[in-house]
Amino acid sequence: MSTALISEKGKNREEIESLEVAEEAREKDWTEPSFVAELFMGRVHTEMVDPYPEQSTEDRAVGDAYLAKLRTFLIEKVDADKIDSTGEMSPEMMQGLIDLGAFGMKIPKEYGGLGLSQTNYGRAMALICSHCASTGGMLSAHQSIGVPQPLYLFGTEEQKKKYLPRLAKGAISAFALTEPDVGSDPARMTTTATPTADGSHYIINGTKLWCTNGAQTPAIMKNGREKKQISAFIVEKTMPGFEVVHRCRFSGLSGIQNALLKFTNVKIPKENLIWGEGRGLRLALITLNAGRLSLPAGAIGGARQCVKYSRDWGNERKQWGAAVGQHEAGARKIASMTAHLFAMESITWLAAAWVDRKSHDIRLEAAMAKLFCSERTHQIIEDTVQLRGGRGYERASSLKARGEKAYPAERMLRDSRINMIVEGTSEILRLFIAREALDRHLAVAGDALNPKLGIGRRLLSVVRAGAFYSWWYPYQFIGQYLNVVSLFAPGHLGYAKRTSHRLAKSIFHLMLLNGPALEKRQLQLGRIVDIATDLFAISATVGRARAKHTLPPDVKNVDAIADLFCREAKARIRANFRALRCNDDRLLRQVSKQVLNGDVRWIERESV
Ligand SMILES: Cc1cc2nc3c(=O)[nH]c(=O)nc-3n(C[C@H](O)[C@H](O)[C@H](O)COP(=O)(O)OP(=O)(O)OC[C@H]3O[C@@H](n4cnc5c(N)ncnc54)[C@H](O)[C@@H]3O)c2cc1C
Repeated sequence: MSTALISEKGKNREEIESLEVAEEAREKDWTEPSFVAELFMGRVHTEMVDPYPEQSTEDRAVGDAYLAKLRTFLIEKVDADKIDSTGEMSPEMMQGLIDLGAFGMKIPKEYGGLGLSQTNYGRAMALICSHCASTGGMLSAHQSIGVPQPLYLFGTEEQKKKYLPRLAKGAISAFALTEPDVGSDPARMTTTATPTADGSHYIINGTKLWCTNGAQTPAIMKNGREKKQISAFIVEKTMPGFEVVHRCRFSGLSGIQNALLKFTNVKIPKENLIWGEGRGLRLALITLNAGRLSLPAGAIGGARQCVKYSRDWGNERKQWGAAVGQHEAGARKIASMTAHLFAMESITWLAAAWVDRKSHDIRLEAAMAKLFCSERTHQIIEDTVQLRGGRGYERASSLKARGEKAYPAERMLRDSRINMIVEGTSEILRLFIAREALDRHLAVAGDALNPKLGIGRRLLSVVRAGAFYSWWYPYQFIGQYLNVVSLFAPGHLGYAKRTSHRLAKSIFHLMLLNGPALEKRQLQLGRIVDIATDLFAISATVGRARAKHTLPPDVKNVDAIADLFCREAKARIRANFRALRCNDDRLLRQVSKQVLNGDVRWIERESV
């Protein structure tokens, strides 16, 4: 670990401990190539996106056959508006999903699942979420982050044989990290798992908010200090002492069964510990790597519906002598949502292909896909609601009762909001990605910035860093202004190459200017991450647009759609670079401090 990033200056013990726990759980090795990790160092490997990886004919056929069955079932048996209003999924619908193998889509066939590839699983999630986000949320929580995934990755053969077939047949599972006082910062977890005297069991005590399966085992001593240990357990609902205290109700996703759970002396056999004591947080983070790709796939489903509704309403609704889609304000929404949907698909299917090929490290790409798709889809739904005018705000059931087309844009807006909070909030994901962006620089120069190290090691690091940056830094300059390779990759891909050099330089400047305090400059780090995310999206979009042979024969106008996305992304990138140099961050820190201190309470009064 490079402790340079964990500066103790100005931090309390709790803060330091949280950062240390997170740092220790981080995956540190990069054994497979990563497009985004390279991008942060000023290298865009166009060969990773062009040619764009194609789904094999056999795998596509498997996906097509499954999607056909799923589509019929969703149309005939899943009433999303009824689920939304009643908050319940009928037993017949649940049985139908079990019969379709929907609870075991990702579980390998040898354990009773369908063994779908990541790509086909993503296609299925997109289809399910285009009909009903609650159903998608339930299935995704169960198998993207719930018990099957960590069990498959880290469980023993006995555990897999015991649980995976049950899970594939509809024994619904969840992933419980969150507690009432512990959300984004799992280091402060308070649920305990104490080994029994004979070592055969653990006794779990605590409360979990919003689901099942994480707990803290006794602390160990490390470097003379107590070190918290987070471990993962399989807890069965039938175990004495387990209690569902309250079913939580949300703004959207009304159909999901989410609860406050209480564990009072729940006795768990030691065989239910997954991957050993103290590895629970790491397990959770690794599970989330590919697990995070489920949410962007679902978001694609929602965005597709929006394009359809907007096309329809944009043509049908006439105001001021023209269809609302023809007024420029409406046209912009329709064009932009289409271009962004294409980009969302491009990055999500690219990352899924890399998972299927086991060819790349996708931890950053999956996090970016989640960040990008959750935020963009919310904007797309927001634009759809706006284009629909008053009808966008009206419930689908009310529209239907009046005899109008029951487009559920209002429900979709409520359902999609959570995507920017679960599986890592947008803020936390930006920090997670930024940490990785700095990783290679810290490997070279981290020791030089670490005041805890002796002068000898720091000097050695300065020399090593000097040797590295003496060629690396000029190379970024040359690359930005005179990238010979980009002459062979003109257009948007060439832009991505040149801009990656500029980005790498900017990261280096930020490190020099801020030193260890950079971790506190979240807005600057966020801009870096947003630039990189747009560059990744541009690269994936161009790669996919070029691979026309991989798209169905009726697909047309791809170039204009991809071009529009790249231009909009470039405008955001330009704005972010500008804000890196010139921003109001200091002033907004000052104002927020005044508000938090209670010095601006006058603004909350009814009148001043
Ligand atoms: C419908 C629903 C389903 C859920 N499903 C699950 C599930 O299946 N399993 C599970 O374990 N949990 C689940 N959760 C919990 C969810 O993952 C958490 O809500 C999420 O991780 C955020 O935690 P929090 O709500 O405690 O927010 P907090 O961590 O308290 O954060 C509050 C705000 O502060 C920001 N913030 C926090 N720390 C920082 C920081 N260091 N820097 C900058 N900003 C920061 C956050 O981004 C957020 O905006 C679910 C929640 C909901 C509502």
